[in-house]
Amino acid sequence: MKNFLLFTPGPVNVAKNVRMAVCREDICHRETEFECLLQSIENKLLKLFEIKNIADYRAVVITGSGTAANESILSSVAGEKNILIISNGEFGERLFRISKVHNKNTFLLEFSWGERFDLKIIEAYLIKHEIDIVAMVHHETSSGMLNPLEKVGALSKAYGVMYIVDCVSSAGAEVIDMEKCHIAFCSSSSSKAIGSYSGLSFVVGKIEEFEKLKYLPVKTTYLNLYKFYHFINTVSQTPNTPAVHLFYALEQALINILNEGGSNHYAYLKSKAHLLRKGMLELGLKFLIDQKDMCSVLTTVHIPSHIDVGIFRKKLREKSIIIYEGKGCFKNRVFQVGNIGELSYDDIQFFLDSLREVLQSFDMVETKRFVSINDHNPMFTYTKENLENESLISVGK
Ligand SMILES: *Cc1c(COP(=O)(O)O)cnc(C)c1O
Repeated sequence: MKNFLLFTPGPVNVAKNVRMAVCREDICHRETEFECLLQSIENKLLKLFEIKNIADYRAVVITGSGTAANESILSSVAGEKNILIISNGEFGERLFRISKVHNKNTFLLEFSWGERFDLKIIEAYLIKHEIDIVAMVHHETSSGMLNPLEKVGALSKAYGVMYIVDCVSSAGAEVIDMEKCHIAFCSSSSSKAIGSYSGLSFVVGKIEEFEKLKYLPVKTTYLNLYKFYHFINTVSQTPNTPAVHLFYALEQALINILNEGGSNHYAYLKSKAHLLRKGMLELGLKFLIDQKDMCSVLTTVHIPSHIDVGIFRKKLREKSIIIYEGKGCFKNRVFQVGNIGELSYDDIQFFLDSLREVLQSFDMVETKRFVSINDHNPMFTYTKENLENESLISVGK
């Protein structure tokens, strides 16, 4: 049944029991069956986020992708306060853009894409400016860099600042200890390392912080975070009609991770990432960032200079493999390979074998071109299209 192998940082190939979960019975979201389902998901989310003092935290589920959870937090927590976004990539910039729509006192502390956060610069900024809230991305998916969750949390605590983290692509793949890292709110979604279908996102937060939202101006209706909290708190429901069957799938995906054990699951993902990286290095490829800065979700790889990324992706697609292209300043410079979802060691080996074939097909085109130029064949013009056709011929397609 696996048509495509999604080597992407989400959506992912889901487990069979997650696929089956959406076929469960029809229930009404204003009845006890849905309330139980939501409570079950909430309990499991609090476990996933390593919450020890369960009585101090709540989790709300939103129908909408990861951006909905981010927008829900950013539109609900700031009021007139000063909010600083620390960014080193596409998703950090998105947090900034979302916050600016809702909060006029939004500031940006920007590092280059793919560059590590400089904690000294962050600290100096917090000393110099009156910042009330700091928000950042944990795993900056555009470069694959894992940002220092605990260290920025320690700075936030030291300077009395509320700390918000976008964990959309790291939850389910990395330890996120909300208590230890002093996180007030963090967001994630169903369709990345959690391993379910896309369409749901969630916010885990401290009750103390949820309660404060009541006194802040309402800037959105649908994504009003206090309203989600109020509903879960009073009736264990969502404010509006949720995508009920996706809740079944999310619950199953969380059961799968918790049954395996969080740390076992993280170790499994890490070993898959390791296999993938080792294989790609052996093929002579180079990575965008240092391996020790990477999350175990995906690997960002430089595109060899003679390869057109569009053709490259198309050739992999013909082998049922889907990968990502770089965004923003990484466009046409990198490709990204995820290893989350139901990808086995065999699938990763299949990917590496296919990758070798595709890379070799480009090398053949190069050699041919060289020979042709030496042969002074002026009739042949090397457009992208006929390079591609030639390469297809040369690998015997
Ligand atoms: C995927 C992702 C998001 C959310 O994107 P959606 O398209 O709304 O799912 C937000 N932040 C990060 C870091 C992500 O990787």
